[in-house]
Amino acid sequence: MPQQKSKDSVRDVIIIGGGIASHTAALYAARANMKPLVIAGIEPDQLSTTSVVENFPGFPEGIQGPDLIQNCKKQAERFGAEYLDGKVESCVQKNNFFEVRVNGKTFLSRTLIIGTGASARTLGIKGEKEYWAKGVSTCAICDAALFRNKTVAVIGGGDSAMEESLALYKFATKIYIVHRRDAFKASKIMQERVLKLKDKIEVIWNAVPVAVQGNGKFVSGVKIQDVNTKQEKVLKVDGMFLAIGHIPNTIIFSKLVKLDEQGYIVTDKRSRTSQDGVYACGDVQDPVFKQAVTSAGTGCQAAIEAERYVEHLKATGDY
Ligand code: NDP
Repeated sequence: MPQQKSKDSVRDVIIIGGGIASHTAALYAARANMKPLVIAGIEPDQLSTTSVVENFPGFPEGIQGPDLIQNCKKQAERFGAEYLDGKVESCVQKNNFFEVRVNGKTFLSRTLIIGTGASARTLGIKGEKEYWAKGVSTCAICDAALFRNKTVAVIGGGDSAMEESLALYKFATKIYIVHRRDAFKASKIMQERVLKLKDKIEVIWNAVPVAVQGNGKFVSGVKIQDVNTKQEKVLKVDGMFLAIGHIPNTIIFSKLVKLDEQGYIVTDKRSRTSQDGVYACGDVQDPVFKQAVTSAGTGCQAAIEAERYVEHLKATGDY
């Protein structure tokens, strides 16, 4: 019976992504006996490129980002989650199933959980990669406490730049906000909060970073250039926080599910997307919080909803 054979090869759930949202979804799906296949991608997730994570509940001394991710993965594997390293080439709906192509192979599934994350926009300037996690960061909420009594530069003029500056204000002695225009993009209320903190915060308008400097181990300065005069100067800082936006990793899903105007997957409160049987979790559907703990939470939601959907298929004879 060829039809039966093909149905047997259909999985209950495929999870696409290798961050904490996907590992949490895998843990819950595995414990629900859905035998999840996790396609973890080839680029490291955000936590794997972070140093210490001090705001994940349950670790009073903090935990290294890569350790947290490896622990989550091991925990999911312990309950039967299967992992495959590879980049998903395409993902389409075929009849009642979803067809995922990866490494030249095709997998079929009844449900999909998308947790492909969002990549922090970077500048691509000299020294940025070399000093990544050695003073260059994209998350002040995570790393601000490491900059107690230090001087830092925050790059950007949106709400994230304001939020990062406010987070750093509690620890750093001096914060330069370097913005490429002469007005912030951020909401008025956030701007006002920042601009009144003149004791520590100084805005450098119409300037962009052109190089990160360091002593080999850690950042020691950022060279900036005035966009009008082209004059350059070095800010002596111990850290550079990029807050120039994120790019959700959703290109291959644009025909499968509805995206918002910034490219994030639109989900409801139950992690459901516009497509029945497809769920999204973590930063790929969250332009606002972008925290490890909220990502894990939505991963859990997505798996529970996927399980409910599969149970519904069984109950209606559509399995
Ligand atoms: P935004 O896209 O809003 O802002 C990015 C900022 O970075 C802009 O000021 C932009 O400059 C600047 N920028 C972009 N690229 C470069 C570059 N190559 N070089 C220098 N500067 C650059 O991103 P955010 O992350 O700030 O915000 C994303 C969304 O999340 C928004 O909707 C925001 O409102 C929301 N958010 C809300 C918060 C809250 O309410 N508490 C907190 C954080 C985010 P320019 O202005 O010239 O375009």
